[in-house]
Amino acid sequence: NTFRQEKKKTQPIRVYIRLRPLNKQELEVRSSTCVEISNAKDLLVKQQYGKHYTFDKVFGPDTTQMDIYNSIVKPLIPDVLAGYNCTIFAYGQTGTGKTYTMTGESKTIGMSLEGDEQAGIIPRAMAHLFDELSSIPRQYTVHASFLEIYNEELFDLLSDKTENKSIRLFEDQHQKGSVIINGISTVMLCNKSQIYEILQKGQEKRQTSSTLLNDRSSRSHAVFSITIHTCETNVEGEELVKTAKLNLVDLAGSEHFSKPKSSDRRIREAGSVNQSLLILQRVIKSLAVKSVHIPYRESKLTRILQDSLGGRTKTSMIATISLANSCLEETLSTLDYAHRAK
Ligand code: ADP
Ligand code: MG
Repeated sequence: NTFRQEKKKTQPIRVYIRLRPLNKQELEVRSSTCVEISNAKDLLVKQQYGKHYTFDKVFGPDTTQMDIYNSIVKPLIPDVLAGYNCTIFAYGQTGTGKTYTMTGESKTIGMSLEGDEQAGIIPRAMAHLFDELSSIPRQYTVHASFLEIYNEELFDLLSDKTENKSIRLFEDQHQKGSVIINGISTVMLCNKSQIYEILQKGQEKRQTSSTLLNDRSSRSHAVFSITIHTCETNVEGEELVKTAKLNLVDLAGSEHFSKPKSSDRRIREAGSVNQSLLILQRVIKSLAVKSVHIPYRESKLTRILQDSLGGRTKTSMIATISLANSCLEETLSTLDYAHRAK
């Protein structure tokens, strides 16, 4: 009975802000900055509004990749190993550091993790998981999948096929609330260094398709999922298998997301990026207010993440913003979205 109660309790989502330092161009034009960190949790937008926002934590422009990992992801690893599904989103305007935060610097992908200070959350989480798993006396397997959602269609970023056919989703008849992604590649990982092959493969695949369509990566979501099975034998000699997933999601650029007025007509009219970011916000909000109906089914993104959002799962969002004054409007829109997710 206590288990049933625990199962119902939804953990609030944690929301973090990461500020990208001014880049070369912005420094050249001596761009002024539009936000100020007042303390570890508060952000002040200096311009006309003088508006304050409070988050779980605000990370300044000097924050290292390691700091981000240690503060946001490291504390979740014991939960993943205990069988909880966890999801981390990177949300923000294109060019503010979503991919940098999730994956790292593309130049250094392919290097080994040791000594790669630029490595993002995915390779760090992988290394950490393998270190932890090898120190516990259990059998385990680790699988990865990597997919892209573009225009409400799913594409397999790890497929060996050259054609880029979209894949279909099915409701799992045996496990309510789970979906089956038909024919998606799952790669079994044996060690932490394999992660770079996978990231590289996925990135190349994402880039090949973007030569056809102008800047597709800013209009698509990339979902990297790590599934861990651990097997334990109890005193009676029975085998217990635990499954947990860690989803690391690099969302489409939020600049395509106009401020929602949330009438159904508006939603229908909005593009698919708008729509899926809006549905994500609604799902998060409905979970927070313990609504009976959670609109998971209204977008591909929330459908495939259904078993990893709400209930006994943990969700975090890292909203990335630019310090530059020229981005003020998008920055405000990102802060509003992130704040509403809380
Ligand atoms: P996005 O995925 O949101 O479009 P990127 O991750 O591609 O943005 O970042 C854009 C550029 O800014 C990249 O060259 C990246 O290396 C750099 N960058 C982003 N965030 C940071 C940061 N926190 N520190 C240093 N460079 C960053
Ligand atoms: Mg990106």
